[in-house]
Amino acid sequence: MSRKPTPEQIRRAPKVLLHDHLDGGLRPETIIELADTVGYTGLPAADPATLGAWFTSAADSGSLDRYLETFRHTVGVMQTRGALERVAAECAEDLAADGVVYAEVRYAPEQHLTEGLRLEEVVEAVQAGFAAGCRRAAERGTPIRVGTLLTAMRHAARSREIAELAVRYRDEGVVGFDIAGAEAGYPPTRHLDAFEYLRRENAHFTIHAGEAFGLPSIWEALQWCGADRLGHGVRIVDDITVDDARDADGARLGRLAAYVRDKRIPLEMCPSSNVQTGAADSIATHPIGLLRRLRFRVTVNTDNRLLGGVTLSDELAALVDAFGYDWDDLEWFTVNAMKSAFLPFDERLALINGRIKPGFAQLKWAVR
Ligand SMILES: [Zn+2]
Repeated sequence: MSRKPTPEQIRRAPKVLLHDHLDGGLRPETIIELADTVGYTGLPAADPATLGAWFTSAADSGSLDRYLETFRHTVGVMQTRGALERVAAECAEDLAADGVVYAEVRYAPEQHLTEGLRLEEVVEAVQAGFAAGCRRAAERGTPIRVGTLLTAMRHAARSREIAELAVRYRDEGVVGFDIAGAEAGYPPTRHLDAFEYLRRENAHFTIHAGEAFGLPSIWEALQWCGADRLGHGVRIVDDITVDDARDADGARLGRLAAYVRDKRIPLEMCPSSNVQTGAADSIATHPIGLLRRLRFRVTVNTDNRLLGGVTLSDELAALVDAFGYDWDDLEWFTVNAMKSAFLPFDERLALINGRIKPGFAQLKWAVR
């Protein structure tokens, strides 16, 4: 058997996903059924295959703003308790079916209030859905754990309130906080109050930074706001000069890039999403290749499975094709992600030693 990991083998590997949006990962058939139930009439297609294709092509526009526009439809059908529960349950099941053993899934509660739900009701519906999905996945023999990140929209003004919500539900499966949305014009420091509150509460948070916008956004997220991780962070390469792109030894790191690497700041990289929004030209030229060689704390993520038409296994398989990664590389990405999760240390260790290492050892042994 070939030593190159095949898509089917990658699907069987125990994987970890830190950056996945609940409202960007719905099944197309679920969107259609929910639209029918709740009377949402704005969908651009009436059958699942056409609707799925519409999302990926709209998301392929090369513009982050156009990409974000597609969420109007998914968020539009996620305004009732039943819809939120169903979407969350299916999310857990779909990730488990792809071999993900631990996932952090994020969404913005403030975007699900148009039919009269309160923020607490939104959070409780999503948590009930994840619990149901995890239960069903375990019954099928594919156990998964899901931690929730509550997101605040960076153009809005509710970040402190959402941060307080994340702390209130920290013992009910909410493991952290994030800000997301259009990056240009909405710097992380606009939400400093929320981040200072979270730090006082010993809570964890990541910040979407360095995706469409460059180094100042990353610098603010880390040095002003104190982010534990960077959502994307791909523009950190702007602070790295390489004489020969194929030789990591020729790289010179600026002070911010050195800080990110020295402090082992996790980068939640989402290669195919970056290609879709124009943050990268292609997978083959994606900065993840350089950042992995330079041993930044790189993790691999899906961002929005519906919009990208991808699973985490697809994402890893594309990197295997582009960069020739082997099982050791894939295990390194996975352990990096598990180390960087917002779970307690002992639980991270239990997943690394109990599921990830044995799972990869078995796959490596099978393909010797
Ligand atoms: Zn994202």
